Amino acid sequence: MSKKLIIANWKMNPATAREAILLAKKIEAGVVKKARVSVVIAPPFPFIPEVRLVIKKARIGAQDAFWEGAGPYTGAVSWRHLQALGVHHVIVGHSERRIYLGETDEMVQKKVRALLENGMSPILCVGEKERMGNEIPDVVRDQLNTALAGVKKDVITNLVIAYEPVWAISTMSGAHPDTPDNAFRAAVFVRHVLTKLYGRERAENIPVIYGGSVNAANIFSFLKEGKMEGALVGGASLKPKEFVNIIRAAAEAH
Ligand code: PEP
Repeated sequence: MSKKLIIANWKMNPATAREAILLAKKIEAGVVKKARVSVVIAPPFPFIPEVRLVIKKARIGAQDAFWEGAGPYTGAVSWRHLQALGVHHVIVGHSERRIYLGETDEMVQKKVRALLENGMSPILCVGEKERMGNEIPDVVRDQLNTALAGVKKDVITNLVIAYEPVWAISTMSGAHPDTPDNAFRAAVFVRHVLTKLYGRERAENIPVIYGGSVNAANIFSFLKEGKMEGALVGGASLKPKEFVNIIRAAAEAH
């Protein structure tokens, strides 16, 4: 029985280190020891060292990483910097980076490769901007195939796929969560693509998690009926009570 993976994506919040520490402490207090859940908190880069100091049961994560370890890349934060800060999980290819910062599948691929080749765990985000009906659009297949091109099967052990339909992300206008049924369809779809790339056994061991307006009331269905292996949580991860309730509900969803 594998642990459910619940990741807090704080995005560009909160405003100060003091608030970040307080939020992390409140979440940490609610992470039940030995629960059947792994919790990762991904704060903005500047808060990583301080947040890391106040969490023991939850793990520290990051929201992005540059593919080179060091060099002339002004403003970039490398996987090596993050590794030195104790970060293992790194969100890669989030739709907000694709939309607002022009991140392409090719850039995402370099990040995924660098992280995997250096023993880190990329949380590769894929998801369509629009969906007509229940079919998972081909763009998701294309995102996966490009982001994983050249990623060899012997390094994929730490790979995690986050299926995040862009229209379901709570900050998008008219956002609403996907249904657990469609999440299940997405998990099957993603696993089918992974099977073609890496074979059935390896594909089955790659966790597929869901993101998009997750809250304490719907997480159980995404994990239980949707058969998702965790969740990437944005807005609700900034509300400590709600996030702790998400973790508790996830612990029940086996
Ligand atoms: C996200 O942006 O990764 C996300 C899932 O956000 P929210 O939970 O707010 O929809």
